[in-house]
Amino acid sequence: MQAQTFETRVADIKRRAHGRWTDLLRSLGVDEKILNKRNQPCPLCGGHDRFQYTDKYGEGNYHCRGCGPGGGLKLLQGVQGWDFMTVLQCLEEYVGSMTPMPTDARVRSTETTAGRMQKLAMRIWQEARPVTRGDDVDRYLRQRGLALVDYPDALRCHPALGYYEKTAAGNSRKVAEYPAMLACIQGGDGHLVTLHRTYLDNGHKVQQRAAKKVLSSGINGAAVRLVEATDELAIAEGIETALAIHLATGKPVWAALNAGNVEKLWLPDTVRRICIYADNDANADYDGQACAFALARRLKKAQHKTGARQVEVFVPRQAGCDWADVWRSRSEHLRTAA
Ligand SMILES: [Zn+2]
Repeated sequence: MQAQTFETRVADIKRRAHGRWTDLLRSLGVDEKILNKRNQPCPLCGGHDRFQYTDKYGEGNYHCRGCGPGGGLKLLQGVQGWDFMTVLQCLEEYVGSMTPMPTDARVRSTETTAGRMQKLAMRIWQEARPVTRGDDVDRYLRQRGLALVDYPDALRCHPALGYYEKTAAGNSRKVAEYPAMLACIQGGDGHLVTLHRTYLDNGHKVQQRAAKKVLSSGINGAAVRLVEATDELAIAEGIETALAIHLATGKPVWAALNAGNVEKLWLPDTVRRICIYADNDANADYDGQACAFALARRLKKAQHKTGARQVEVFVPRQAGCDWADVWRSRSEHLRTAA
């Protein structure tokens, strides 16, 4: 069988995708909001209302007053941070290519590990559902005193996620399946970097095993955007801590997932008031406090570029505590007092 040339692959995918772009973009992880055909910030170049998705010619068309017009292929590259070959391969998997690609061509078009991990993350994310009352994630958060009426879009419930362990030979082997809370970790430009997984068992974190895992390493300043930032944003390490802060203060909140990433966190320029809720690691190595203050210092020192910002750091009084612990003991106190 003759290998398709690159040009015929592109032409083929354009023909097959014609008129189906909105569905395709949605299936490949482009946020519904980007596709709502209203003026909004450009997912590729920012701004306030310069971007509009129109699908005018059935090619996933959009127009941006900043970076110009484009179609679904370009939009997918920009939003997901994928290179053109990755986009082409994803589309071919979804709509089917004209002739199957010979294996050696697949091998030749080498994908980066990051690209492969991102596709895996996307597939797991698509398998999961928004969190609803009574599902495993709702039961888990409820048990932690963190039930919400509406759960963030950045969290999903996976009904049965494979749990892998490394064998002595260094290979990954699936040893179980559990329901899981998935959290979408977004980079500065809004694309899915990877997923955070909390494996659950009957409304609790799994016991005897590492319950929390990031799918791939190197999140490098990306965050779980639980509540979209306004001109104000609260920052916490853990997802549960971040939800506790949102419940207690009503502030928009992002979770950085670990102390080291708090320090590196990417923040939008539009945020003017930042409250960093540190974990109190005084019983360990003071990582929580150190990284919170390192972020505060970075933000203050960058003010000549960003303009003046109000930055505050809050640390729970008790060693070994985070703000979720504080919220829980306060709620328990209120319950017994009632
Ligand atoms: Zn733009």
